[in-house]
Amino acid sequence: MNITTPAVAQGNASVSLPPTMCATSLPKKGVLSNPPVLIADQKHIGVTNLPVPLNPLSLTWTLLDSPGLSLRNSLNKCWFHSTLHLLTNIPSLRGSCSSKNVGHFEKSFLAALSAIFSTRQANVVNSFFHLVKDFSGVNNRYGQVAVPDFIEYLCSKSPILSSVTKFTFLSKLTCSNCKWISERKCNDYSLKLHLDGKAHVSLIDLVNLNSNAVLSGVDAVFCGHCKVKTSQKQARDYDNPDLLMLEIVRVTKLKNNWIKNSAPLSFDSQNLQLPGFLRPYRVVGSCHHRGSLEGGHWITKILTKRGWFEMDDLQRKCRKISSPGVNDESVSILLLIAEDKFRI
Ligand SMILES: [Zn+2]
Repeated sequence: MNITTPAVAQGNASVSLPPTMCATSLPKKGVLSNPPVLIADQKHIGVTNLPVPLNPLSLTWTLLDSPGLSLRNSLNKCWFHSTLHLLTNIPSLRGSCSSKNVGHFEKSFLAALSAIFSTRQANVVNSFFHLVKDFSGVNNRYGQVAVPDFIEYLCSKSPILSSVTKFTFLSKLTCSNCKWISERKCNDYSLKLHLDGKAHVSLIDLVNLNSNAVLSGVDAVFCGHCKVKTSQKQARDYDNPDLLMLEIVRVTKLKNNWIKNSAPLSFDSQNLQLPGFLRPYRVVGSCHHRGSLEGGHWITKILTKRGWFEMDDLQRKCRKISSPGVNDESVSILLLIAEDKFRI
């Protein structure tokens, strides 16, 4: 059995893949109706190569004592508020909010987070909005700016944020004829999980479905060893990060229109053992898109020392809720912390 490096794989030995895609971006024939459009390569998030001094507080993984400042909706900026509320629940990011020597954008971004969880100054949050208000979303796929798109935009502008959300995985293709294995290292800010169909699905099954595939028929891949296109088994090895963000991709493009999938998703909020990950995880936050693509609304749920709260900028105050994960038809982002890091 041979194992090639990515460099070899693109040379004379193994599969031919587009240079800007990793192997996992190939469609999974007959299994996923929505082809996975993963995943950014290292060029896409090259900003994370910048050295980022870690604040000592980043080693502390405690929850917020209580929800932060309740933000009020105006100018349809629920996507902005929902994103910031979620990010305040990343302990290592809160620990970095006092960082010096950061650029103007990042300084304003971190000040907005502090204004929510610490200083409670709505005007500071509004000041940061003026820096991002022209962000129109990648493709308006949710009928408005999407929280996952805005998070990726912030990662591209903030080395500190991208350093805490970045994770890596190995994508492996195995030729069904000669068992030749080619590997490619991929990284991204979140693990994209495409929903298949309208039926209820568990998060574990969804990760499995998106991590493993058989590429055959028109999706067969050229094997450098067999010198022909062959059926290939695709799998991933994840790097078990301390913090993991999952994106549940609920929209698909059909011709020129986007359609939304409200299939119910269930998951454990504690000791969540995802396939391909060695460590169990705790769910500490989630973002949800409610409504249709014509009239939708983003809200956030966060876990604090006082339990779970829902942050909805159409409501005057946040409200206490039970943990998410039961037949959830709106969840689009999940924020996870490894159980062994997690401290109440
Ligand atoms: Zn082969």
